[in-house]
Amino acid sequence: CQTKQHRSQYQFYSPEMNAQLQERLTLENELYGALERNEIVVYYQPLIDLHTRQVTAVEALIRWQHPTMGLVSPAQFIPIAEANGLIVPIGEWVLRTACAQNRAWQLAGLSAIRISVNLSARQFEQPNLLQVVSQILQETGLEASYLELEVTESLLMVDVERSVKTLKQLRELGIWLALDDFGTGYSSLNYLKRFPFNMLKIDRSFVHDVMSNPDSAAVTDAIIALAKSLRLNITAEGVETQEQLEYLEMRGCDEGQGFYFSPAVPAEKIIQILQQSSQQRETIAA
Ligand code: C2E
Ligand code: MG
Ligand code: MG
Ligand code: MG
Repeated sequence: CQTKQHRSQYQFYSPEMNAQLQERLTLENELYGALERNEIVVYYQPLIDLHTRQVTAVEALIRWQHPTMGLVSPAQFIPIAEANGLIVPIGEWVLRTACAQNRAWQLAGLSAIRISVNLSARQFEQPNLLQVVSQILQETGLEASYLELEVTESLLMVDVERSVKTLKQLRELGIWLALDDFGTGYSSLNYLKRFPFNMLKIDRSFVHDVMSNPDSAAVTDAIIALAKSLRLNITAEGVETQEQLEYLEMRGCDEGQGFYFSPAVPAEKIIQILQQSSQQRETIAA
């Protein structure tokens, strides 16, 4: 009996866990060099103004085009990149690519929109963040007001004073700031008013069951009300159905993002979406 117990202690990994671990190790090894091999790609997802139904922004979301594993989602490799620090060069590359892309859309005559880029904790901590961001804006010729940076609460709470300072400096450049995944973190209301955000993004977990779960509906309502009282713009993530959209519109949500409108798509496809959006605008103006 004792032997059996003893033996069972060594069964750390089931075969599935082993496969998962193996996959993580493979990804970890191969992530080095992925950027140089041009395997990291930026997809874009539109954000729709719920009042005018036009695209007001697109969020840059990266994927890893792995030679054998196909399109790897950021949920699988961002945590690895965070852990080994590769997120810093990858994040800088995304920022440069996204800003250059937005400038290219403007030069092609499409209506000006914001480009929204996720910042990771590691990037946010870099002492040269401000220089990197201003340098990229200068290099790409993109006006700061067409760039939005998304951060999460957990990242800000590491050092609140320093976060306030960094965010203020970014705001002074003219960049928009969004608090991503709102409602899932600390949601410390006391700190929220100290951070100079322009937007709150309601996490998609609340939007997901807003029609079926009264608690999610209550949280969604409360977040929208909070954003309004702090005069922040409010975006709902993960809008998948007409019913969700109608609910959010009725509650006064400003922007929506989700599969109901479009998933994240390659840059070429976004052009079509932006062209449709500008044409609509012209028709309304005419
Ligand atoms: P996020 O910033 O909250 O981005 C929104 C996520 O929700 C994206 O997942 C998007 O594809 C997904 N989404 C949008 N609409 C819907 C919907 O209607 N239904 C559902 N189920 N999902 C929807 P994605 O692209 O897999 O990215 C996951 C996370 O990875 C992002 O969450 C973000 O935190 C991180 N990420 C992506 N790109 C970058 C990046 O360039 N840098 C950093 N640091 N993080 C990134
Ligand atoms: Mg985001
Ligand atoms: Mg995010
Ligand atoms: Mg989010």
